[in-house]
Amino acid sequence: MNIKQEIQDLREELRTHNYNYYVLDHSNISDYEFDVKLKKLQELEQKYPEYYDENSPTLRVGGEVTKNFETIAHEHRMYSLDNSYSLEDLRDWEKRIRKIIEGEIEYVCELKYDGASISLSYENGRLIRAVTRGDGVQGDQVTANIKTIKSVPLELKGNYPLKFDIRGEIILPIEGFKKMNEERITNGEEAYRNPRNTASGSLKLQDSSEVAKRPLECLLYNLKGSALGVETQFEGLELAREMGFKVPQAAKLATSIDAVFEFVNYWDKARHNLPYETDGVVIKVNNLFQQEELGYTSKAPRWAMAYKFKAEQVSTKLNTISYQVGRTGAITPVANLEPVELAGTTVKRASLHNADQIEKLDIRVNDFVFVEKGGEIIPKIIAVNLSERPLNAIKTKYIANCPECDTVLVRIEGEAKHYCPNYNGCSPQIIGRIQHYISRKAMDIEGLGGETVALLVNAGLVTNYADLYALTKDQILPLERMAEKSAENLIIGVKASKQIPFERVLFAIGIRFVGETVAKKLAYHYKNIQALINATKDDLEQVDEIGVKIAESVVDFFSSQDNIETIERLRGYDIQLEISTEMLASRSDKLQGLAFVVSGVFEKASRTELKKLIEDNGGKVSSSISSKTSYVLAGDKMGPSKKEKAEKLKVSLLSEDDFFKLIQ
Ligand code: AMP
Ligand code: ZN
Repeated sequence: MNIKQEIQDLREELRTHNYNYYVLDHSNISDYEFDVKLKKLQELEQKYPEYYDENSPTLRVGGEVTKNFETIAHEHRMYSLDNSYSLEDLRDWEKRIRKIIEGEIEYVCELKYDGASISLSYENGRLIRAVTRGDGVQGDQVTANIKTIKSVPLELKGNYPLKFDIRGEIILPIEGFKKMNEERITNGEEAYRNPRNTASGSLKLQDSSEVAKRPLECLLYNLKGSALGVETQFEGLELAREMGFKVPQAAKLATSIDAVFEFVNYWDKARHNLPYETDGVVIKVNNLFQQEELGYTSKAPRWAMAYKFKAEQVSTKLNTISYQVGRTGAITPVANLEPVELAGTTVKRASLHNADQIEKLDIRVNDFVFVEKGGEIIPKIIAVNLSERPLNAIKTKYIANCPECDTVLVRIEGEAKHYCPNYNGCSPQIIGRIQHYISRKAMDIEGLGGETVALLVNAGLVTNYADLYALTKDQILPLERMAEKSAENLIIGVKASKQIPFERVLFAIGIRFVGETVAKKLAYHYKNIQALINATKDDLEQVDEIGVKIAESVVDFFSSQDNIETIERLRGYDIQLEISTEMLASRSDKLQGLAFVVSGVFEKASRTELKKLIEDNGGKVSSSISSKTSYVLAGDKMGPSKKEKAEKLKVSLLSEDDFFKLIQ
């Protein structure tokens, strides 16, 4: 037999054994036999390097070292999931869906695996890239590490689509986690906290051979691509299985929310027997066409919902209450607890939200409190164990002065939180505002991090964000951990922010209640900062989607002479304070006052693109037809009952072609 063939056969055979063992969980070869074959292949590969293949089973042991993980933009954004905690929540979700989708809806119920999400890209049946979720828009390329996980196929079987991404979760099964910890303890090392953090920490290890030693698994749940040849989520799962991915068999179809709830109830108990941790169930609309119709909110798909199993609770002692000051001056009371184990982590602090919450639960220092951990990072106190209240627990008196600058706190009518009004002199506010200004979605200043901002403020070098532009290298070099190169990068990063468009500057300057979306609205409406400064409260309220609260906050911001001066300084440093001409050119008022519903499948543009075009041209998009709808932009396969509703309400249908004529 020729060598090339022999190498290929061995690879194929080992691949099959790997698949049986790691994906199907059963093996028909002894470990010894497997090792003998693997050694044989290694020898052949060494002797005949011309037959090198990066996907050879011999390379599963890792070896590649990554110093800096490359940042990669996801082709399809990796969204988060909305959470629900009760049958009521699920029924509400269904109601929202029914407003958009007519006809039957089927759901797929899956377990929610608790690990680290990953996106794998395959081309021509081979794994080409693995990227972490990161912030959902971009993540880290961790391919070398992922290749060491044996349940991730490097080459696919069966009829695979030529190019697609698949999403899944890297998890550490409980047994493997325990074994790892036993070993660590034997070696005198500190035990890992929980499987989830250990799994996600593993992805970022620099040495892939270290990753190879960890018993990680990859469970898959979602295919993404333009020509998958499937019409439902469930078919997608089956296709993934056929290609060789590990897709847990628990996934079930359900035809009603009640059936979904049966699944939830079953797994709420049965999950304790699973080899890995789950924190809930994910329910997805099965039909991909309906999924597309439902679309996404800014954070999560409308077609999916996570159901979180009831959180674990513990009781512990409340030692002290401290108060934090945020960038807007808002005060958050924090409970410092006697450390306690909860859902796999040690809890030391819990949020108390505001004065009302403390009052309502009558939380006192020295009380024993019940702490719960839901999806949030910071656990919360849900009740006081009154039967254990010690005699020395005195009723909590909320602070009257700022813990940082001692200014008397204020509480605005109708708002839950107290504020420190010392806008210009309270250091966490000053630092927080500058940190917001430089953050990624705002001015995205590279080379300057949150901690450095604190150093700069504390050193008296900056007191507001305009001061950043006056910084010199000589000033910042003496700062802690600041080297020549990092000082240069800081200056370059600050300078580069002069290119950031007006809408983001408007977000960055930190007007209360003016988030990303509102900033965009205001930028396009007023076109430059002077017009916005001149706007009255009434003017502002006329702008689409701007309510009283925002209007008041904007007027308030610009009524401060300090803020006006800061803006003038930004102008002096050439910050973009008006909308660019290119931005303006891509927009018009042609659809001003018109409300659209977009439904069906289109040829020239995707539904998302069409919605953006409508908004860019001044129109409004809503999800369901009402008497206020001006047009239904109707594509192919629009639902019959939607058509009926449009006819009944005498709303005209608009074809894709006519729409493009309208905005030309
Ligand atoms: P969260 O991080 O709480 O917003 O939940 C979203 C995450 O749940 C996703 O990014 C996935 O990593 C994870 N997840 C786990 N199991 C599933 C599943 N079956 N379907 C979708 N997402 C899942
Ligand atoms: Zn203060």
